[in-house]
Amino acid sequence: MKAAVAGYAGDSSDTVDSERQVDVVALGIVTAAILLFVATGSIVGPKVVDSLLHRAPGPDSFILDAFLLNIAIIIFGWSRYRQLCEEIQLRKAAERQARRMAETDPLTGFLNRRSFNDSVNRMIAAATENGQTAVAMMIDLDDFKQVNDFNGHNTGDLLLRECSRRIAASLPKYALIGRIGGDEFAAAFVFDSARDEAIDQVASTLLEAIGKSARINAIDIKVTASIGLARSDIPRIDDEPLDARALLEMADIAMYHAKRQGRNGFYWFEAQMADEMRFRTELERGIRQGIARGEFVPFYEQQIDLQTGELTGFEMLARWNSPYFGIVSPEIFIPVAESIGAIAALSENVIAQALEDAKTWDSRLTLAVNISPLQLRDPWFAQKLLRLLIEANFPPHRLEIEITESCLHQNVAQARSLIASLKNQGIKVTLDDFGTGYSSLAQLRSLPFDGIKIDRSFVSSLVENKDSAAIVHAIAMLGKGLDLPITAEGIETGDVLEHLMQYGRIKGQGYFYGRPRPARELAEWLECPDREPAPKSGIPDISPRDTPLVPPDDLAAPEKKRAHRT
Ligand code: C2E
Ligand code: MG
Ligand code: MG
Repeated sequence: MKAAVAGYAGDSSDTVDSERQVDVVALGIVTAAILLFVATGSIVGPKVVDSLLHRAPGPDSFILDAFLLNIAIIIFGWSRYRQLCEEIQLRKAAERQARRMAETDPLTGFLNRRSFNDSVNRMIAAATENGQTAVAMMIDLDDFKQVNDFNGHNTGDLLLRECSRRIAASLPKYALIGRIGGDEFAAAFVFDSARDEAIDQVASTLLEAIGKSARINAIDIKVTASIGLARSDIPRIDDEPLDARALLEMADIAMYHAKRQGRNGFYWFEAQMADEMRFRTELERGIRQGIARGEFVPFYEQQIDLQTGELTGFEMLARWNSPYFGIVSPEIFIPVAESIGAIAALSENVIAQALEDAKTWDSRLTLAVNISPLQLRDPWFAQKLLRLLIEANFPPHRLEIEITESCLHQNVAQARSLIASLKNQGIKVTLDDFGTGYSSLAQLRSLPFDGIKIDRSFVSSLVENKDSAAIVHAIAMLGKGLDLPITAEGIETGDVLEHLMQYGRIKGQGYFYGRPRPARELAEWLECPDREPAPKSGIPDISPRDTPLVPPDDLAAPEKKRAHRT
């Protein structure tokens, strides 16, 4: 791999001092020995020659001893000097090794977060001095967690190593590269500011390189990346001098923008992205606080037996009653809660409230709740749910868990074991949003679902769209064939209802029967003796409290398009 660990600090002063000390000692020994050797040698030498040639008396034995001792000292001094040199070499190597370990990531050999930031600071300072521009790149692998979950951490590590090789090969040789998080890399280098399309080219090449399939442990794995770019000559609002932290933060914001735009793309930082980021941070903070303050509340949507028009139960749909944002749709807060690891707490909170509410209903009415794919991965989920049921003293057979079809795609084995544990407790499990997640018929047969819900996109459009009608028909037949009860969601009009009647005994829900409503409104409606079970026409008024928060720009629904510099 290319050297990406440029920018080490120089040798430590301790090492330099000790080296000097050894030099002085060694020099002293050698100089003293040489002086003595010359002094004694000048006396002993001629006397020895005289005694050999003219049979004169030999040198004085004291001088001879001093001369021999002097030779011994030279030999001893030399060997000690060699020994010290070797010790220093060893110590230097150990220090180098320790420093490398402290400054680099052992898996990829890239700089770690701290040393990367230090090196980028030095690079920015040098670039500013020379009138050059530096660019920072934040590179985050998309959905890398899934690679670990599906294939294990060993394969994940090998893939990270392969990605790091590709990153190093795609960037300029002089680039600083760091691994600053599990699946997050950063790079920085100076470039010709008049040619920023060259950086676009580097980013495209990098995306292409990472996106190529890699063979790891005999499995072909594909992973993509999202890249954020920021340049050091961008005008600063606060006029603060730009440092590594600020530059990387901008690249990070641009990287998150790329994620929201559908991943596998790159974006340059622009000032308005920071506003989006602030909004996102507010949302995250609001969600964390909102859970603790009980701001997440259940709303309920009727579920009807289409043939008899009889109410069979309710689906609980969470709403965030935020003092700051108003009523917020789950389409917005669920993904954010998932990404900040707050989904389990949020979900348990609203399910607990829903169980309390449902206890007050007629005991024949069921309660359906949705769970996130992340909860499906929690091996303790079934136990947690059981605890909630026991605490609420709610009969398990009245509870239905809705698992979206996309969950199955992520991990069938986990889904199978969770469904089995839930069913053992008497809880029913239905497959939500069927038709959107490409689950195979074999999977459907092998997983013991208690029902299938046809996705609302097909149901609501079945009158005007022949394809939707054909899909609804096929799913209804499939349900009959597999003996699985079917629920059609998204019934908005009497025409759709009429069309669905042909399928006999199926359940349905949708705005035709009313918008989801909060617990108190629902309780009043249930208690009303002359309530109409199933309105015959028209869509009831939207409750003002059910108006969802409109997300800024692209925050809620990422377009599935490849991102480029805007
Ligand atoms: P879902 O489970 O498929 O719920 C049905 C969604 O369709 C609800 O949106 C509901 O308000 C909407 N809907 C119902 N009837 C109609 C109709 O006739 N026409 C149209 N256009 N829409 C209709 P909502 O409440 O915004 O929920 C969206 C999704 O958020 C839900 O889809 C569910 O997947 C998720 N969700 C809701 N509550 C929770 C929760 O507590 N936990 C988790 N993990 N997900 C939840
Ligand atoms: Mg649902
Ligand atoms: Mg659904």
